[in-house]
Amino acid sequence: SLPDFPRRVAVLGATGSIGASALKVMARHPDLFRVTALAGGRNGTLLAEQCARLKPRIVGVLDEQTRRDFLARLPAGYAPEVLVGPEAFTALASLDDVDVVLSSIVGAAGFAPTLAAARAGRMICLANKESLVLGGHIIRSACHASGAVILPVDSEHNALFQGLMGHGSDDEIARLILTASGGPFRGCDASALKGVTREQALAHPNWSMGAKISIDSATLMNKGLEVIEACHLYGLPVSMVHVVVHPQSIIHSLVEYVDGSQLAHLGMPDMQVPIAHCLAFPRRIEVDVPRLDLARVGSLTFEEPDLAAFPCLRLAREAFDAGPSHPVVLNAANEVAVAAFLDGRMGFADIPATIGNALDRHQPMDVSTPEAVLGLDRAVREEIRHALWPDADSCLSLSKPR
Ligand code: NAD
Ligand code: MG
Repeated sequence: SLPDFPRRVAVLGATGSIGASALKVMARHPDLFRVTALAGGRNGTLLAEQCARLKPRIVGVLDEQTRRDFLARLPAGYAPEVLVGPEAFTALASLDDVDVVLSSIVGAAGFAPTLAAARAGRMICLANKESLVLGGHIIRSACHASGAVILPVDSEHNALFQGLMGHGSDDEIARLILTASGGPFRGCDASALKGVTREQALAHPNWSMGAKISIDSATLMNKGLEVIEACHLYGLPVSMVHVVVHPQSIIHSLVEYVDGSQLAHLGMPDMQVPIAHCLAFPRRIEVDVPRLDLARVGSLTFEEPDLAAFPCLRLAREAFDAGPSHPVVLNAANEVAVAAFLDGRMGFADIPATIGNALDRHQPMDVSTPEAVLGLDRAVREEIRHALWPDADSCLSLSKPR
C-alpha cells in the first residue's frame, strides 16, 4: 500500500544529480511532500544549502570532515541531528517518520541502504540501479516480506512501468525494449575508441548526470546494468529484454505485448519527469520541464547497438545469465575501472577488458545473503585495485564521492 499525502521523504544522495532534481520537484509541491531526512556523501557545502532551505530533522554524511563543513555552514537556530558514516545512510533509510526513501546514491554503496528501506517496508523510489544488480533477489524478497514497494526512477524502467500498467497476466508480455542514446561515441568503431579522453566521455549528448553514470553511458555499461535492473524489476529472463539505440532520447522504452502492440513512453530527457511520477505515484503532478513538441524534434531514429565496439552490454547480459554472483563481479569491476579511467590510470578500451577478465576468472558462488554479496564486491575491488595501484593501501581511496 502507498503512503498518504503529504509524504515524508528521505533523500539519500541529495547532493547528486538525481537528488537535486528530486528537491526541485518537491519544492514545487510543498503541500504534497515534507523532507524529513537528507543525506549526501562528501559535499557538506551543498548539503548545508539544501538543509537551510528544507530544514530536515535529520541529516547523514559520509565522514567527519564533511560533518564539520556541513555544520559550519548552517544558519543560526537550526540544528538537525547529524549521523556520520556509511551506517548513517542505512539508518536514514528506515526511520519511523519517513514514508518514502529516494535511493539516489551512486554505486554499490546504495545496496545496504536500499535493502534497509526494503526491510522497513518503505515506498522506495529507486534510482540506484547498482543495488538491484548486486542483489536484486535479496531486495525483492525483502520487499515481499515487508510490503515495501519499489517505484523505478531510472527513465527506461519508469517508462516500462507505465507501459506495463493495465495488462491481464504476465504471459501477455512479449518483450521489453530499452532505448539507449548510444552515448557520446555512437558510431565510433573499436579503434577510434582507444584514444578517447575523459572529457569526451563525460560529455553526454542528451542527459546531464553524475560522472560515473556518464562514463557508463559512454561504454554502454549503463544499458547493460539497466537490462539486469529490468530483469529483476519485472521478473523476466534476459532473453525478453532487448535494447535499441535511439539517439534522440525521446522514447524512453517500450513494452511489446503478444498481440504485437508496442507501448512507448515519450518525454523530454529530464529526470524530473520520472522522479515526479515515482514520488507522487499514483498521482500526476506538474513538473517544470519544457513540453515535448514532436514537430520540433522532427524525426526519431533507431539502430542496433554495436556490440563489437561496446562489449559492456554483452558482458552484462552474459553475467545475468551466468548466475547471481556474476553481476556482482561485473559491477565491482566496472566501478573500479570507471574510477581508474576518471583518474587517468586506464584507457577507455581497458574498461571492458578489465571487466571481461574479472568475469573470466570468477567461479560462481552463493550470494544469497547481503554479507556474501558485499564480501564478493569487496574482494573483486581489492583484486583489481591491487593490479592497478600496487602501492595504494586501500580500495577505499578509489571512490571519491562528491
Ligand atoms: P551523482 O554522482 O551526481 O550523485 C551521487 C550522490 O551519492 C551524491 O549525493 C554523493 O554525495 C552520494 N555518494 C556518492 N558516493 C557515496 C557513498 N559511498 N556513500 C554515500 N553517498 C555517496 O550521481 P547521479 O547521477 O545522481 O546518480 C545516482 C544514481 O542514480 C546512480 O545509481 C545512477 O545510476 C542513477 N541514475 C542516475 C540518472 C541521472 O540522470 N543522473 C538517471 C538514472 C539513474
Ligand atoms: Mg536510464
